[in-house]
Amino acid sequence: MSELHAPAREVLDQIRALPASSGRPLVICDVDEVVFHMIAHLETFLAERDMGFLRYAYQLTGNIARKDSDTPIGQDEVRRLLLEFFAEVSDRQTPVDGAAAALERLSADCEVVFLTNLPGSANKPARERLLASHGMPYPVVTNSGPKGGAAAALSAGRGRPVVFIDDSPQNLKSVHLCLPETRLVHFIADARFRAAVDPLPMAGLLTGDWQETTRHILSILERS
Ligand SMILES: [Mg+2]
Repeated sequence: MSELHAPAREVLDQIRALPASSGRPLVICDVDEVVFHMIAHLETFLAERDMGFLRYAYQLTGNIARKDSDTPIGQDEVRRLLLEFFAEVSDRQTPVDGAAAALERLSADCEVVFLTNLPGSANKPARERLLASHGMPYPVVTNSGPKGGAAAALSAGRGRPVVFIDDSPQNLKSVHLCLPETRLVHFIADARFRAAVDPLPMAGLLTGDWQETTRHILSILERS
């Protein structure tokens, strides 16, 4: 596995601390823009600072500008804003419609684990509390960078098939590379960003609908 995809020690430590495998199929699910809204909150956060996205594109650096300008703000300012954003909203992000009911249904047949890229390890307890308060009390592993290595480590010794749900093309490609047999669901809650992405050939479904996602995953389970 290339260095780029290798999980950090903090990630492996969290994986080791997970409850023992039940041997049931594994659903690895992202949080931002999948079970909690993120883009909508980020737009509000940026608008409060007289900023916005230049395009509905899966890119932050080079895609955020002040309202009166087409020139994107620099990488350092994006990084600083994102840290501030997560610190401010990570205890009040709103859930995506149908996510809790869908995961509850899937958890009857599968093991569900959240794998989320979250800046600042201090934000993890807030995220766990918020997920639980919205009816999603599943284990959380926080990661940074591409998720392939973490997904491979997480699924080792656990049940099959493995389903991976994420909004980020980079993460889906990384998991496809590191764990090719994984069934991929490309889930983007925001309809504008969903309409703007190129469908990935390796993903079985591109959707923003949790009912459709549940039907798709149950049909994978039936056929495996
Ligand atoms: Mg996400």
